[in-house]
Amino acid sequence: MSAGVTRNQAIAVFGGTFDPVHYGHLRAAAEVAEQLKVSDFRLLPAGQPPHREGTWADAYHRLAMLELALAPYPDLTVDDREVRRTGPSFMVDTLASIRREAGDAPLILCLGQDAANGLNRWHRWRELFDLAHLVVMTRPRSRPRYPEDLGEYVKRNKVRRTRDLMDSPHGLMRHVEVTQLAISSTDIRRQLAAGRDPRFLLPATVLAYVRKHGLYVLPESSL
Ligand code: ATP
Repeated sequence: MSAGVTRNQAIAVFGGTFDPVHYGHLRAAAEVAEQLKVSDFRLLPAGQPPHREGTWADAYHRLAMLELALAPYPDLTVDDREVRRTGPSFMVDTLASIRREAGDAPLILCLGQDAANGLNRWHRWRELFDLAHLVVMTRPRSRPRYPEDLGEYVKRNKVRRTRDLMDSPHGLMRHVEVTQLAISSTDIRRQLAAGRDPRFLLPATVLAYVRKHGLYVLPESSL
């Protein structure tokens, strides 16, 4: 954290599967943390994601990779509560658990545009706005495309300034631009399965971990 910058006493949470974590996640996290100027910015790996077919690496591997990636950056921390919890992980439960610790402080959930477009398929999605603000980050090849019920919500609750998010604990939405890096975990897994080298798309420490534990070495047809 650079000296002289006043930080907001808000909590920001960047959720994802991080299977594996890559520079698209990390650069977006760094930029959005800088824009929000929050004193508490967390990356939160999904335990057992209910919205996807499943993850390729076990939760403890995904957590270990995230910790390796963030080790040099103490202002970006890992929140491991979903990984520690048994059973399916619903973001609404996760945010409720953070809210209990946060009191009335602003709580901000950060998501990429692709994830935000499908938010209405999340378990009890309307309640997310009773718990947190939403910050949506641009992502290559993803434009805002909200289905009607979610679109209405977005229209009503959209704000233009970060400051607005700091004046209330939850319920608002803001879009932020981040550097466009067309990197995805799917592409990295495919490269690894095909015996290619995805170096420079993710931290070298993470790639070394992947190789050491033989992760993502699956036949390409099954990816
Ligand atoms: P997969 O390819 O397995 O779907 P992914 O690369 O999309 O994975 P996730 O862990 O599913 O990564 O993403 C976590 C969050 O990070 C999501 O909200 C997603 O939109 C966002 N995100 C992922 N990659 C980028 C990127 N390159 N730029 C901006 N946001 C990203």
